[in-house]
Amino acid sequence: MKSLKKLLALSAAAAVLMSMAGCGSKTESGTGDTGSASVSTVSEGKLIWATNAEFEPYEYREGDQVVGIDADISAYIAEQLGLEAQCEDMAFDSIIAAVQSGKADMGIAGMTIEEDRLENVDFSTPYTDAGQVIIVKEDSPIKTPADLAGKTIAVQSGTTGDTYATDNVDGATVDRYSKGAEAVMAVLQNKADAVIIDNRPANAYVEKNPGLIILDEPLTVEQYAIAVKKGNTALLNEINRILAEMEENGKMAEIMAKYLGGNEDLSEAAE
Ligand code: GLN
Repeated sequence: MKSLKKLLALSAAAAVLMSMAGCGSKTESGTGDTGSASVSTVSEGKLIWATNAEFEPYEYREGDQVVGIDADISAYIAEQLGLEAQCEDMAFDSIIAAVQSGKADMGIAGMTIEEDRLENVDFSTPYTDAGQVIIVKEDSPIKTPADLAGKTIAVQSGTTGDTYATDNVDGATVDRYSKGAEAVMAVLQNKADAVIIDNRPANAYVEKNPGLIILDEPLTVEQYAIAVKKGNTALLNEINRILAEMEENGKMAEIMAKYLGGNEDLSEAAE
């Protein structure tokens, strides 16, 4: 039964599996008591979380470990459920298919709640706010969102930044990259005029690449949540219960502070 399920997932989501790479560490919860799992998961005793570890501060690699806000949230949820957190690192636009096909229990990847996505997965309650921002070179003639018209915009494929550039910018050429870092590189190499990407990862890129700036005006206001397979209310309810508990007991604030320092709100993050 299990292998049949696996086989189906294989044929349904070959692209997902091909783009998949391990995440180094299998246990991120550390103290998980695997004997007391209260929900059934894709792989017994485990909570498999699908992500794209190219999105600092939410998920990124430190050595062979995937760390970040979403990694810590996943570890905490797994621990509370008596499960072992296991990360599956894949292309961002494969995460929903992985959750749908039962390859992963949940998708947590700085993923914005969106109408289109709600047709394919269920989302938890939101755990943070975010927004798309514009990264340009310091000396760029692009000073406001209106200046993007007709320009070449680099985005990470399948993200809300991609959707914004495609649907909202007149006459733009949208160049899609599988990694945010590649989109940023395109601007540094003058292959693109601007990047549209989420505010906090934008901060991380700009900090690491002198000569880039983030324009003041955020383009969108979005909320991140955890995606689960449609109809998996047992897991969804548990995730929502634990997220609420994390808000209440200060765990969420502690995780945010660990990775964000002072950059707590969108306006600050967009500076
Ligand atoms: N928040 C954006 C989205 O949901 C980007 C997420 C990401 O690149 N990891 O599309």
